Amino acid sequence: MKKYSLKLVLMIAENLKNVQDRIAAVDKNQQVILIAVSKTKLASDLQQAIDAGQRHFGENYLQEALDKIEALKNQNLIWHFIGPIQSNKTKQIAENFSWVHSVDRLKIAKRLNDQRPESMQKLNVLLQVNIDDEPTKSGVKVDEIDELVTHFENFQNISLRGFMCIPNPVNSEQSFNKMAKIMQKYPNLDTLSMGMSSDLELAIKNGATFVRIGSDIFGKRA
Ligand SMILES: *Cc1c(COP(=O)(O)O)cnc(C)c1O
Repeated sequence: MKKYSLKLVLMIAENLKNVQDRIAAVDKNQQVILIAVSKTKLASDLQQAIDAGQRHFGENYLQEALDKIEALKNQNLIWHFIGPIQSNKTKQIAENFSWVHSVDRLKIAKRLNDQRPESMQKLNVLLQVNIDDEPTKSGVKVDEIDELVTHFENFQNISLRGFMCIPNPVNSEQSFNKMAKIMQKYPNLDTLSMGMSSDLELAIKNGATFVRIGSDIFGKRA
């Protein structure tokens, strides 16, 4: 039993180092922040990554995330909500996260703004863009972005920082490039969340500032 867990400890730390090296090889401006995507993984797995220096974590499912936030509190971690958002979940998201990557409609933005405690720093928000216009994926359509962005001027407790996308893997390079061009139209925004285990290099070459890496750090999910 001891042997097994020691192996696991080493594996997560080693995987993390490999991902950091892959990022460093293409991140010429040293602007990329690595988010360890820890959905379905145990708090003890996250602790291994924390002990190896990891600070940013991404979670998709609220209840699971809240359990880990509680289990790992007082360690100066930065939590990112990256999963689909139902409107009855916005309050707990607003109260427990620093970043939300998956805002895809005005109603959700408005609720997050109303429910973000004023005692906390502004909640950082990204609009999820359905960059390949895929019917099965959530996200704002490209031609809806402009309209939605204008509404954020009215929000006091949330700050629109940029965009997130999950392209179709068959054409991720073109989609990242498309996202980069959209980003250029908004000089006030500074954050682009794109790139996963299989395509982080392509995302960084196209201006990603957050990459979201799960399986290459924690191993395959069940
Ligand atoms: C699961 C997930 C990731 C991580 O994907 P991997 O292929 O395991 O690196 C990144 N972003 C989102 C939105 C996810 O749901």
